[in-house]
Amino acid sequence: MNIFCIGIGLIGGSFAIDIKQNYSDATIYGISRKEATINNALALGLIDKKATLDDLKIADIVIISIPVDATVKLLPTVLDKINDSTLVFDAGSTKESICKVVEHHKRRSNFLACHPIAGTENSGPSAAISGLYNGKTNIICEVEKTTFKLQEKALDLFRAIGMRIRYMDPIAHDKHIAYVSHLSHISSFMLGKTVLDKEKNEKDIFDMAGSGFASTVRLAKSSPAMWAPIFQQNKTNVLETLKEYIANLQDFKNALQKDDFETIYNEMEKTNYIKQILNGIK
Ligand code: NAP
Repeated sequence: MNIFCIGIGLIGGSFAIDIKQNYSDATIYGISRKEATINNALALGLIDKKATLDDLKIADIVIISIPVDATVKLLPTVLDKINDSTLVFDAGSTKESICKVVEHHKRRSNFLACHPIAGTENSGPSAAISGLYNGKTNIICEVEKTTFKLQEKALDLFRAIGMRIRYMDPIAHDKHIAYVSHLSHISSFMLGKTVLDKEKNEKDIFDMAGSGFASTVRLAKSSPAMWAPIFQQNKTNVLETLKEYIANLQDFKNALQKDDFETIYNEMEKTNYIKQILNGIK
């Protein structure tokens, strides 16, 4: 089975590892922009062979794991170059613009729009890990637009690497993911920025940083090359979440200014409910 990974960083590389472990007949071909990245992927054993887009005609499965703006640009070309029985799926963190760009493509039914809810703050081939997808959810959008046979092929692969499946339409996906993923990243980036700005004047501030700071600011280590296009493509939803988040920060500040600690206590107590929600989805 010929598997082509376009993009061989954390997400593409982790797919490559898990597929190799589950399909003994899989040959993994890697395609990347930079020669250094593809050589690194080869040296790490993530891929078996280097390839180019012109080799896609021999692909059984193509996995696109590059930034979402690059996916929007490249996906129509990929569909132009595959054969009629090739399955193409992406892993992009936004779904509306990716689905939109191929809505009238003659090979739309070869494409499955996916978003694996799995990842870390690390990027590049060396960030790829075995078992990243085990027990994680894969959100699939517009499943009805993919040929039934290719849906089955994709589901077999996702099941083999331990993924759960959830179906959603692309608009709902982008709206909901803005709250639980995109806002969390902005919040972490801006917390990091606030502390870094302060640290310029007060050199020993990091001596006081505990595990609470480290875990809250973890996402600020994420790649700007991946996240800037996500915020651009999901701008409307992200702006909506920011409006609500900033209003909550403002309410907190107002309560503190007025010495209204009862409101502060009650808000925190209500928010502790997040423990039950998170325990339920572990
Ligand atoms: P990554 O580790 O930074 O890898 C990105 C890959 O894309 C690299 O192979 C890079 O290759 C290539 N690339 C970067 N810019 C490109 C461009 N403009 N055009 C073509 N190729 C480009 O990123 P990742 O975390 O694997 O993310 C890949 C995709 O998965 C993104 O769409 C992201 O939204 C999605 N995703 C990420 C996570 C997460 O937690 N990281 C979770 C779910 C979904 P070169 O070095 O050769 O440029």
